[in-house]
Amino acid sequence: MIEHSRSIRRSTTITAGILSAVLTLVPPAIYFVMAFSHMTGVIETEGEINARVVGTLVVANPKMWEFEELRLKELLARRSTQTTERRVLYNLKGEVVAESSDKVLPPILSKSFPVHDAGHRVAVLVVSRSLAPTLMVTALLLCLGAIGAGFTFFRLRTVPLRAIENAYRSLKQSEEKYRSVYESLKEGLALYRIVAGDGGEADLVLADTNPAAASVFGFGRDDIGKSIRQLQGGLFAPVRGAVQGALQGEVSLELEQEGTGRVFTVNTFPMGEGMVATLLEDVTEKKRSAEQLETLAYYDSLTGLLNRRMLLDRMEHTIDVAQREGLKMATLFFDLNGFKPINDTLGHEAGDQILIEVARRLKNSVRKKDTLARLGGDEFVVVATLDKEENASCIAQNLLRRLTPVYEVSGREVYVGASIGVSVYPDDGTSPENLLKNADIAMYNAKKRPDVEFCFYSAQMNQKLQDRMRLEFDLWMALDRDEFFLEYQPIVDARSGRIAAVEALVRWMSPEKGRVMPDAFIPMAEETGIIIPLGGWVLNTACLKLRQWQEAGCRPLRMSVNISGRQFVRGDLCRTVEEVVEQSGVDPALLELELTETCLIKNVDETIAKLCRLKGLNVSIGIDDFGTGYSSLQYLKNFPIDHLKIDRAFIKNVCELPDERAIVDAIIGIAKAMELHVIAEGVESREQAEYLAQRGCDELQGYYYHRPLSEERLLEVLREERMREEAGSVWTGGAGAPAVPV
Ligand SMILES: [Mg+2]
Repeated sequence: MIEHSRSIRRSTTITAGILSAVLTLVPPAIYFVMAFSHMTGVIETEGEINARVVGTLVVANPKMWEFEELRLKELLARRSTQTTERRVLYNLKGEVVAESSDKVLPPILSKSFPVHDAGHRVAVLVVSRSLAPTLMVTALLLCLGAIGAGFTFFRLRTVPLRAIENAYRSLKQSEEKYRSVYESLKEGLALYRIVAGDGGEADLVLADTNPAAASVFGFGRDDIGKSIRQLQGGLFAPVRGAVQGALQGEVSLELEQEGTGRVFTVNTFPMGEGMVATLLEDVTEKKRSAEQLETLAYYDSLTGLLNRRMLLDRMEHTIDVAQREGLKMATLFFDLNGFKPINDTLGHEAGDQILIEVARRLKNSVRKKDTLARLGGDEFVVVATLDKEENASCIAQNLLRRLTPVYEVSGREVYVGASIGVSVYPDDGTSPENLLKNADIAMYNAKKRPDVEFCFYSAQMNQKLQDRMRLEFDLWMALDRDEFFLEYQPIVDARSGRIAAVEALVRWMSPEKGRVMPDAFIPMAEETGIIIPLGGWVLNTACLKLRQWQEAGCRPLRMSVNISGRQFVRGDLCRTVEEVVEQSGVDPALLELELTETCLIKNVDETIAKLCRLKGLNVSIGIDDFGTGYSSLQYLKNFPIDHLKIDRAFIKNVCELPDERAIVDAIIGIAKAMELHVIAEGVESREQAEYLAQRGCDELQGYYYHRPLSEERLLEVLREERMREEAGSVWTGGAGAPAVPV
């Protein structure tokens, strides 16, 4: 590059010199030539004219013209320009006859012009002008040219050179920068130059290396320039062949460093211009991250078992094998029983311990060829190919036997059983998703049956499940479309037979099924949580109706509303009741909430707090279906309740069976002793009504009096009742009931 720079410097100097010389000399020379030529022309013209004028005088006076000095001087003094010009007239003897008065400075340019008389020359006129002004201007131009040329020379010579120097400097800086990057690269880079070996074949010598490559390959500074055959250190030995191979094209390989376990990828490739390069990258962390990602993507982080994604993949493969070999494949879907309460009461850490232990026990129980996975939560799946003589029941039984249900968590023993659903390929499905779904359905069925621990899938199960899903969907839609409505069953005073209260009962008018009774949809509404918005709707509608009836002039009646267990435990019942009472403007003392025994005993302290809050709203609380649940005397004492409703099961045969009678008597006795209001439901005959009234039951409800009535019919019944009262026909029968049921 330096040589190149010198050559540019030399040619620049020559060019600048020539241009400067031209600039210095050419303009003054051109000027001088033009001015001299112009002056010559002017002198010739002036001389010719003056010689002719003098010739005229000579012709007019041929003998005496030489004595006409004054006249000749006047002729010589005539000028067409103001330029100083000397004119002298000589005779043939060379004597001055006349001359102009002008003086001219040397150097002088002169021209002679003959004067004739009758064809003979008689005198000579000499015209002279000074060259001094022309020479002075020429000299001035020369000076200016020299100055301009000097400047031009300087610019032409220095500017390109400075540009070259700048380019050279920035190139150097850039090279230093790249050198520094090259040196500090985490990736190792080694360069080899292709040279001719001793035998004429191509050899490679190490031309350069950065520290990263040097440390891995064990290169030292003194190795630069050595043939690759002489390089022995570090990891270079296995790379040597690749470097040699790069003469033909790119070669890649992966290396693991002994001792450190670090993994490198090595790429060796030709670079052109007789060079070969090796790029070395440490991929240890990258590989580790990729492995971790794979673990996260395909394995369950808690138990280390396969996750759903990997399970589906394996199932796909196992189905292929089973299909090819004409075998069956069982998918066993495990779900732990009683796991959720442990998680809720002992905490998630305890739950995790159990899941890890379940995974361990299952791992020890399955065969090597089986696939075991955790789908999430407490769900595990075993996929097993069945040999000809095997069946899935044996595998399920064996797994259950080995998966002993007792676990020790936080120093105490807990019992966690399992339910298994089994689907079999190809009978119950041919895709992994289908087999899993059907095994899940079977497991759900097994869970519902306390007598079995595992259950095989059947098509009916799927139908049932679909029916359930359809019902759930329909219920949500019914809520949206306002398809629910209320009926009201009167509760009469046992003594007077007068309607004292009504119980709001929800019904569903399905566009497809018609009128649907609560038994067909309340359990599903409970299970899916629809009961919470539905219960709220019932409460709100019942209160609004009560308020409307009062505004329409009806006498005050109590409105009894059933509250579901889920609504009481999960929903914010107190707030709902508070809002409903406020919005409807109904007297809260007329609102009775009927709760079942089972929902009250789940969390006694919390239940008492909730009941107290409800009581604080001035609503009354009763226990529905009393006698069928826990019937604990303890909670009768502790809970702030107002009434008991004896379950219809005890009323049905109260007149016939002494045992039933004894139970009913006992319930009434206890309630009375505890000052609770007692209501009997399911009263269907006069005998039952009379007996219950006689035993002290306060109110009665049942078909003997009234079936659940529509709003219109209820209002009609109330009107009829009022009319009878106004007519004075008060019933005085044993139970105060009308002779004929309404
Ligand atoms: Mg009820």
